[in-house]
Amino acid sequence: MGMTLRTSGFADIPAGTEAFPCSTNSVNFRLFILFLLAAFMPLIAAADIQLPPVPAPAIAPPATGVPASPEPPMEIRRAIAVGETAPVAAPSVTKIVFTRCAVPAPVIAITFDDGPNPDHTPRLLEMLKVRNIKATFFMVGRCVVTWPHLVKRMVEEGHEVANHSWSHPLLTSLGNTSLDSQIQRTHDAIIKACGIAPRHYRPPYGAIGMSQRKYIHEHFGYSTILWDVDPLDWKTPRNSKKVQERILANTKSGSIILTHDIHGSTVDAMPATLDALTARGYQFATVSQLIELERETASTVVATAPAPVPLTPEPTIPVVPMSTLPPETVAPAQPAKAVGLGE
Ligand SMILES: [Zn+2]
Repeated sequence: MGMTLRTSGFADIPAGTEAFPCSTNSVNFRLFILFLLAAFMPLIAAADIQLPPVPAPAIAPPATGVPASPEPPMEIRRAIAVGETAPVAAPSVTKIVFTRCAVPAPVIAITFDDGPNPDHTPRLLEMLKVRNIKATFFMVGRCVVTWPHLVKRMVEEGHEVANHSWSHPLLTSLGNTSLDSQIQRTHDAIIKACGIAPRHYRPPYGAIGMSQRKYIHEHFGYSTILWDVDPLDWKTPRNSKKVQERILANTKSGSIILTHDIHGSTVDAMPATLDALTARGYQFATVSQLIELERETASTVVATAPAPVPLTPEPTIPVVPMSTLPPETVAPAQPAKAVGLGE
């Protein structure tokens, strides 16, 4: 079927259209229809969802006069994967940590960490461009100031830019002053490179304390973005085929996929991986778009469901001992002075 749903406006779905051939304007009837839609989303084989522009964060980033990442409306063609069920969750708008999003369609976000990288990021951007796939880049500040033209290109080509600290330390080992510096310097560097303020950060190694994530949200307006799909692409010996297999084996609707564009083997895996995910019916969104889709879906379900819907529990944040940290995930150190940028 070819119905068109605009997730930002379920309440705007017109009665009496071809998709909704009813003749009444009864509010109750429309609410009933909306409830059925929410309940039977998985059964809808193919429909269109238009992700709305992502609103500005509730807490503005500290930098003034800089717009948040623009998120143009994005057409999402739905094709529910066999056996998947639509999550019915009601995350609060105050939810600030995401490992995966509860969405009613096979929409996913692929993310690339630790760059930009002068060798691999440009060819990755080409792969994404020819497929019209938008990704999210969690970047290390010292790489941002070294290769700012790549950050600018990401934004020009519709990708989301996000913060991954300045030098990739274990944030749980830092006090607030050092934590501030790691986040603020990178925030400023990204703005300087592309004119866009990041909205999210990902802690190196996924390690962040409960109070720290709250602190960062309050001071920077950032959500903490983790992941539910880890292809272990940083592990040696690196193997493109295994990266592809692990991603395909674990990706579900709403998944946030972790990869690293500093590794050639990861980028080598992308053409086949992206094409296979697309062939399975997945549509790619930026992290901000995926979160927005979850929030709008949840608010629609809550508004139309006859009974309260339980809240999704906050995920447990892993704290990784330093001794177990994989050194491969640390971004390559390249002093900015070496290239004359004076940072
Ligand atoms: Zn990293």
